[in-house]
Amino acid sequence: MTHYKIALMPGDGIGPELTQATLKVLDGAQKKFGLNLNLITANAGDEVLKQHGVALPEDSLQTIKQSHACLKGPVGETAADVIVKLRQIFDLYANIRPLKAYPHAPVANPNIDMIFVRENTEDVYKGIEFTIGTDTTICLRVITRKNCERIAQKAFQTARLRNGKKKVTAIHKANVMRVTDGLFKTVCAETAKQYPDIQYNELYVDAASMHLIRKPEDFDVLCTCNMFGDILSDEAAQLIGGLGMAPGANIGENFALFEPIHGCAPDIAGKHIANPISMILSAKMMLDWLGERYNDTQCLAAASAIETAIIKTLANGPVVADLGGKATTENMAQAIADALTAEPNTKTTTTTTT
Ligand code: ATP
Repeated sequence: MTHYKIALMPGDGIGPELTQATLKVLDGAQKKFGLNLNLITANAGDEVLKQHGVALPEDSLQTIKQSHACLKGPVGETAADVIVKLRQIFDLYANIRPLKAYPHAPVANPNIDMIFVRENTEDVYKGIEFTIGTDTTICLRVITRKNCERIAQKAFQTARLRNGKKKVTAIHKANVMRVTDGLFKTVCAETAKQYPDIQYNELYVDAASMHLIRKPEDFDVLCTCNMFGDILSDEAAQLIGGLGMAPGANIGENFALFEPIHGCAPDIAGKHIANPISMILSAKMMLDWLGERYNDTQCLAAASAIETAIIKTLANGPVVADLGGKATTENMAQAIADALTAEPNTKTTTTTTT
């Protein structure tokens, strides 16, 4: 049995509620599958900034560096100082966001099964902004061939590993941003030639945002630069029941960090009504990644069982308000944990995070 150190970052707003809920499910998975996860808290975010004057303290960074993976709740206003920084420090170049229509969730179309493969370290999110004089502000967009190549490879490999339509859609605005998105589009098209078994098409980002609403079931893998992927994946999450259904993984060559795609939802923080599935599915993606990386069949089995338990709970309840019920975050998570431990056996199907 492999022992894993996991840095656990509860975050702000609904983050601590989602974290407690997810721990119930991970506890169940540990007992049932004999996993050995040593979860070590690494605090960061708005509250930490208030208390310690820094959003991502050095001791938290060290804890993360000494871990096999990090499971993170959303942080608030300090996101740029926490998650954007962590993505750059650990070179977590791929942001993987699977968005799947689960039975019994309020979905726009039952056949939605798409995955965003979003470049995660550059673009306008590099944060290179400055002011000229008093009235002119500038933001620089950085797009490099190296990162276009990495993300395009990741998108095609992901398409190949999925039981999906074996299709990659590259999303850009190369008709306006001819240089930066021109490079992104060229590299995606070049990469497509190495994968003749995978269909390839391109969409302008504005057209893509419309097609996501019109025919979401047509998409399989969406390959995007950083900002477009951020925006479109929030839009697409609404098609499968809202942001509370949307997990994410930040993947690098040597490390990975797992977190819901949403923010810390201050409007519902402390009300115990947040949908915990986003973070529970993020933990499932973490177990998939550990299982694939360390060839650990128990991790893969636990990941698969978590997804089955979520599906059962969506069918039988109790569920939170977003999903049409009245359960609290904790009660719904407990129901998922109970369904997990009651589950007789599992088959291993993964989300392809590696
Ligand atoms: P960010 O810019 O940091 O991503 P945001 O300001 O766009 O954050 P979110 O915090 O992501 O906003 O929340 C957007 C909306 O989605 C809010 O109304 C929030 O309550 C809702 N929401 C987010 N996460 C959940 C969840 N897990 N369960 C239920 N509702 C959620």
